[in-house]
Amino acid sequence: MVILQKISELELFLNENNSSQKAFIPTMGALHSGHASLIKAAKNDQSVIICSVFVNPLQFNNPQDLQSYPQTLEQDIRFLEALGCDAVFAPSATEVYPKSYEPLNIDLGILDQVLEGHHRPGHFIGVARVLHRFFSIIKPHTAFFGLKDYQQCLVVQKLVDQYFPNLKLQWVPTVRDTRGLALSSRNSRLSEHGIILASQLYQAMLATRSQAFLKSPQEALQCGMELLAQQAIDIEYFTLVDSQTLIEPKVWEPNQKYIILAAIYIEGVRLIDNMFI
Ligand code: AMP
Repeated sequence: MVILQKISELELFLNENNSSQKAFIPTMGALHSGHASLIKAAKNDQSVIICSVFVNPLQFNNPQDLQSYPQTLEQDIRFLEALGCDAVFAPSATEVYPKSYEPLNIDLGILDQVLEGHHRPGHFIGVARVLHRFFSIIKPHTAFFGLKDYQQCLVVQKLVDQYFPNLKLQWVPTVRDTRGLALSSRNSRLSEHGIILASQLYQAMLATRSQAFLKSPQEALQCGMELLAQQAIDIEYFTLVDSQTLIEPKVWEPNQKYIILAAIYIEGVRLIDNMFI
């Protein structure tokens, strides 16, 4: 596996491999089995696998969050090597955003205004900008993303529809621990008690899902909310929406696909998760 820090090194690698299809997996590092599932999915693709490890400052609306984001590059490199990744691209922020960088302007519509978009102003435009930059340089054939960041998947789809129509996207299911807690780099900041508490979010989503179509959407939601309230969990949002429009239904429509989306705080750590109904 080669380790590339400069765009010029990446371009050289891409030239040397120009006859092969490229699979690309963007990450912010502090890698875990959730990331591994994306790399394993890419291995089925028979492509050259390029993984980026870059904590993108543009997508952090909170400077404290950026500062406390776990960074474990050496460990990540060993992790990626063991998984059979071909190249890791781990640039500095000035490499990705040199003085000459002209920020992409993309209208993300409602995605930038509701739920994650509402609570993390500027987050998704930061995501869109870094991906536009990486996709433009790497020109991957396929890119892999986790459904754990569901609203991000919608943002990626919008970016790709507009700018990279030949890029194939693959969505990978959320990997959870034995208690149901979605794996996340941020979990490393939780105590053992915090991990147990955080897994209640999974239970709350199961409780809501178990009542879907039996009770009204609002009543079903209430079942999960009550479970979180019993644990005094700090909820930023816990909602049930149409999976495409992100609008809360008043009644169940037979042919619509719904998803529960949630963001909570445990021990000051912000966690997001979701579950299809
Ligand atoms: P991150 O490093 O958090 O930016 O995540 C990089 C990619 O890994 C994103 O596409 C995430 O959705 C995905 N990912 C993170 N956690 C998980 C998980 N528990 N299961 C599946 N994919 C994940």
